[in-house]
Amino acid sequence: MEDTTKDYVINLRVSRQTYQKIKDKAKKNGNTISSLLRAVIDDSAEIISDLSQDLSGAPYSSPKNRFSDITAYHRAVLAQARPCDNCRTEMIKGEITTIGETAKGPAYYFCGKCK
Ligand SMILES: [Zn+2]
Repeated sequence: MEDTTKDYVINLRVSRQTYQKIKDKAKKNGNTISSLLRAVIDDSAEIISDLSQDLSGAPYSSPKNRFSDITAYHRAVLAQARPCDNCRTEMIKGEITTIGETAKGPAYYFCGKCK
């Protein structure tokens, strides 16, 4: 059985410049190199997960922020079948859909049950 409470040690080789940069930055912030790197890794892991959510358009993992970027709704007739972006029900061509427009461009499509 894996011990999930155990911390792990990562050894990595970096160039002298990188090491110096990290060391200077840690010193400036009154951090140790380890705690600086831990913070950086935590930050980037969060950023990467945010990014991958954005890229995959996965509204599922963050229900609170889901569709919060919608700026306007309008109704339309579907020109082709597609799933509802909320409940994933497949909508058929010709069905009335509610489109949620966002300022950034991509729009969400909702079925009759969701909007
Ligand atoms: Zn729906």
